[in-house]
Amino acid sequence: MTIAADLYTLQEIDSAIEAARASLATVEEQLGESEELIAGRQAVEEARDALEGVSRQQRDQEWKVDDLRSRLSDVEGKLYGGSVRNPKELASVQDEANILKGQLRRREDELLDIMVRVEERQAALREAEESLAEVEGRWRQEQKELASEKERLEGELAGLEERRGRQSSLVEAKVLALYDNLWQRRQGKAVVKVERGMCGGCRISLPMTVLQKARSGLDVVQCVSCERILYVS
Ligand SMILES: [Zn+2]
Repeated sequence: MTIAADLYTLQEIDSAIEAARASLATVEEQLGESEELIAGRQAVEEARDALEGVSRQQRDQEWKVDDLRSRLSDVEGKLYGGSVRNPKELASVQDEANILKGQLRRREDELLDIMVRVEERQAALREAEESLAEVEGRWRQEQKELASEKERLEGELAGLEERRGRQSSLVEAKVLALYDNLWQRRQGKAVVKVERGMCGGCRISLPMTVLQKARSGLDVVQCVSCERILYVS
């Protein structure tokens, strides 16, 4: 193998390492609770609070209805029990009974409205819980897949780094430094193939002397224009 061929292989490993690292970063970003999951939990929480609010109203209203019923029953006891005989007094008890009946009807109507709202809130809560269960199920499956993908990428990366260690040990330190420098400056394209006498990086036609030196593969030959290391395969 020529120096350029060794460097070209090294570059392929480095590209694979870069790609695996980028994939790993993407996977790691997706691990953890999703916005959809957090929003779903929030929706259930809100639906539960809303239901609790109307349920409390229902209990209050039921208490008021019960209170009016027992007051009315007392008044009616007086009215029909025979204890009150005085017509004027009877008329006033009758008035009181009528007032209480009116109040009771109003309270009972209000209670019915509240009960409808409770049912609506119960349905909304069920819906939010079902939706959350679905989101959670999907999210769990995704997390499982992401975790195994993460493990796979970490294994791949470890293998690549080991290969990189072996491959870079074939290259002289001075040449390796030149390669690393070009890798940085030329965005991961430090070594390029020569195609039909042209530099595969900047497409310039290379002088015959440069081509001949590159073909021999004995030394590192750089493009006269873009300075990339030339590789004749
Ligand atoms: Zn070039």
